[in-house]
Amino acid sequence: MRTRRFGTALAGLLLGAGMVTAAVAPAQAAPTQSGAKTPVTQGYGGAVVSDTAESTQAGLDVLRRGGTAADAAVAVAATLGVTDPYVAGIGGGSYLVYYDARAHQVSTIDGRETAPGADGPSMFLDPATGQPLSLPTAVTSGLSVGVPGTLATWQRALQRWGRFGLAEDLRPAEQVAERGFVVDPTLRELTRQNAARFAQFASTAALLLPGGAPPAVGTTLRNPDLARTYREIGEHGISALYGGPIGTDLVNAVQRPPLAPGATLVARPGPMALSDLRDYRARDADPTQVTYRGLDVYGMAGSSSGGITDGEALDILGTVNLAAMTPVQALHHYLEATRIAFADRNRYLGDPRYVDVPQRQLLSASFGRQRACLIDPAKAGVSPVGPGDPFTGSRSCPPPSRAPVPVPDRDHHTNHFVVADGAGNVVSCTNTIEELGGSGIVVPGRGFLLNNELTDFNFAPTQGSAPDPNLPAAGKRPRSSMSPTIVLRDGRPFLAVGSPGGATIITTVLQILVNRIDLGMSLPDAIAAPRASQRNAATTQAEPAFIAASATRGLEALGHKFAISDTSPLDPTIKISPDIGAASGLEFLPTGPVLAAGEPTRRGGSSAAVVHPTR
Ligand code: GLU
Repeated sequence: MRTRRFGTALAGLLLGAGMVTAAVAPAQAAPTQSGAKTPVTQGYGGAVVSDTAESTQAGLDVLRRGGTAADAAVAVAATLGVTDPYVAGIGGGSYLVYYDARAHQVSTIDGRETAPGADGPSMFLDPATGQPLSLPTAVTSGLSVGVPGTLATWQRALQRWGRFGLAEDLRPAEQVAERGFVVDPTLRELTRQNAARFAQFASTAALLLPGGAPPAVGTTLRNPDLARTYREIGEHGISALYGGPIGTDLVNAVQRPPLAPGATLVARPGPMALSDLRDYRARDADPTQVTYRGLDVYGMAGSSSGGITDGEALDILGTVNLAAMTPVQALHHYLEATRIAFADRNRYLGDPRYVDVPQRQLLSASFGRQRACLIDPAKAGVSPVGPGDPFTGSRSCPPPSRAPVPVPDRDHHTNHFVVADGAGNVVSCTNTIEELGGSGIVVPGRGFLLNNELTDFNFAPTQGSAPDPNLPAAGKRPRSSMSPTIVLRDGRPFLAVGSPGGATIITTVLQILVNRIDLGMSLPDAIAAPRASQRNAATTQAEPAFIAASATRGLEALGHKFAISDTSPLDPTIKISPDIGAASGLEFLPTGPVLAAGEPTRRGGSSAAVVHPTR
């Protein structure tokens, strides 16, 4: 097996503009073996890119047995619930974008977590003070746990596009959970970052802090409870969780967080009831669609803000020719496009069942032109930029408005994976339990962590005198940034991409698209290139390699300011990686094979594999 290192990310950043079609010369590699990871490969018959070798292998095995992309996606996601437990699993939620090769159609499933029926607008206000709870208090609690949607997403995907049943697609994950997997440095490091709060819960410490400490690299971590849980779901169907015995245990953990003896945490309980689980549905939803440089870009509509915000930014960038610009100007326009699009996201986007989202207007080319007027090639915009008015249809350039207050947003981590099968069906799926380690609560006896997705709501109004579209409400889905994306060229798949990273997901997906489509990079280079994320803030979050790049001096001369983000949002004394995102993607090459590409180094690197590698 060969692993190809791509030219430094810095070189990628500085790649001259103007070359539109990338010369792609990826590595040729055998399918991933458990324990080893290859970030890039190419070939035929189907492909998988995910965070861990075991999850990629599980997907590949299902494809080899004749499963569809949907079957393989369930196998990948279920295995990630074992080997990537801090960012995925049946205690969380998912968004899945699917290209159906027979129908030539892109569809999506919204499996976002949902606020229990007893929650309301003041759920994150301290009853004693009326002030918003601190983030750490809100996160590590039963209160933050939304009704999980991942398992319902799997079921819905299999109903619509699967060949096998849930039991069969869960089996590879069940086996990994039963026999265990080898702890790598990434898992140990993420455990270290969360060890103090994991130690507060008896069930979490028992699973994830064997012997009272993060497991050593090279040791085997088994999760027989999760193996049993998967088996029970396979035998009895998803109702085992959505109203059955697994659900009862889940609700008990939310209502009475299972504190360890001697725990110092006061974990606020949540009001979730078994009926909330019974009532949960993954929703079929139309994708967002914009045309960019002649390509059709499909993404996730509400309850995620990903597809609309990326779509608006692409509409803004579609008004200029990035390929003809200097690298500094191309990056300046990229940063300004998301500065502006985030102002509109924050003002208008929320769960469309609760908020009148002007999706059509925000994604109209005329609104993109109107917002593009705000970009001054000679200087960086001043944040917070105010939202535009998508209802006016104005052809002129409106004067810039100012937002009342900057909206805090965060850059936590989930995972993204992509799958294609031999028939040409494609999955782009992001799944999450929100914070790394979610709420910190493992459901006793069940082997999975519960999400803290409800902290994606705004705790208090952020939009001044205008309504805030992302306040909590009973049954509402918190606004997400997850942006699983599929790009078609002439009606056929061209790219499938996505990333974790909280609100940085939106900018990471956009940056990869711009790198690939406009700046002449191959997909692996587009993923590896250093990242910067401007989200309508005075300072742009950036990776150290981006800040070190010479083009960045040019951006600073225009007034851009950059800073890394490398401390935990839950405890500023805990250092975390300054990396932004951990992307994965597929490119369907005109010559026939599929190029499967992930991260060479971020979050320990991705695992890419194809059914029949090109030799
Ligand atoms: N909670 C985040 C969102 O829905 C996703 C998790 C992450 O990547 O941080 O936007």
